[in-house]
Amino acid sequence: MNHTKTALVTGSTSGIGLAVAKALACEGFRTVVHGSRDALKAGRIIEEIRKDSHADIRYMQADLKNPASIYRMIETCCEIDILVNNAGIQHVAPVDEFPAEKWDDIIAVNLSAAFHATKAVLPQMKRKGWGRIVNIASAHGIVASPFKSAYIAAKHGLVGFTKTVALETAKTGITCNAICPGYVMTPLVEKQLDDQAKARGIDRRQVYGLLLETQPTGRFVQPSEIGALTVFLATDAAMSVTGAALPVDGGWTSQ
Ligand code: NAD
Repeated sequence: MNHTKTALVTGSTSGIGLAVAKALACEGFRTVVHGSRDALKAGRIIEEIRKDSHADIRYMQADLKNPASIYRMIETCCEIDILVNNAGIQHVAPVDEFPAEKWDDIIAVNLSAAFHATKAVLPQMKRKGWGRIVNIASAHGIVASPFKSAYIAAKHGLVGFTKTVALETAKTGITCNAICPGYVMTPLVEKQLDDQAKARGIDRRQVYGLLLETQPTGRFVQPSEIGALTVFLATDAAMSVTGAALPVDGGWTSQ
């Protein structure tokens, strides 16, 4: 059944996106892996997913900062039944030192790209009377922390966007939800350890401890946990789950 449906996961050559693409492929969905560059790395990743899943996997390249490139990618894919807006970037600095171009890039990749991709897939989903949109937001779409103004603005925006799309599509067989992970050890988090240390005036090891302290479970979320929830949201059993911001954060946002 699943092999008739196609999933596109943005930013899926690493981290959470890769785990989501693998989980969907293992369920038999035709899966489009997306990356911004490095076709060689993408080739290796596709082989790895194919080996585990035997699913039909394709690779698309597009710079999500560029709306035209997003619309071109969706048009080339032809059919998308499940859209996972996952790609994201981060920058850590106090507001008064935050580079304006970093603000623009974060809003473009973490928020506007989800708008453009959703706008592009909705007409075909509506025609079919079935669709799933999963936005990978963050615990930072629900609560804030210092030094991440652009990221937190974008993720709160993504949660709001998710709710609006859910309301607009409520009677069409389409659902739209946000998954809000806590800390997951991926390249995005590794890269910010040094920046956090600088912004807070502490060392890298202390930042590591600080991140884990945020989560009552005291452990990092595994990328596969986000993959498993995405697979559930893609099932018919989840058809009444729409407009939700689902925390997968070890209790962080319950505090
Ligand atoms: P990651 O760095 O491994 O993945 C981010 C992906 O986005 C990469 O594959 C990258 O190529 C892609 N990307 C970035 N800029 C792009 C651009 N201009 N065009 C195309 N692709 C681009 O990091 P991750 O942690 O797996 O992040 C995935 C998502 O999960 C992000 O939206 C992030 O905000 C969110 N998230 C991560 C955590 C965490 O702790 N790691 C927590 C909550 C939410």
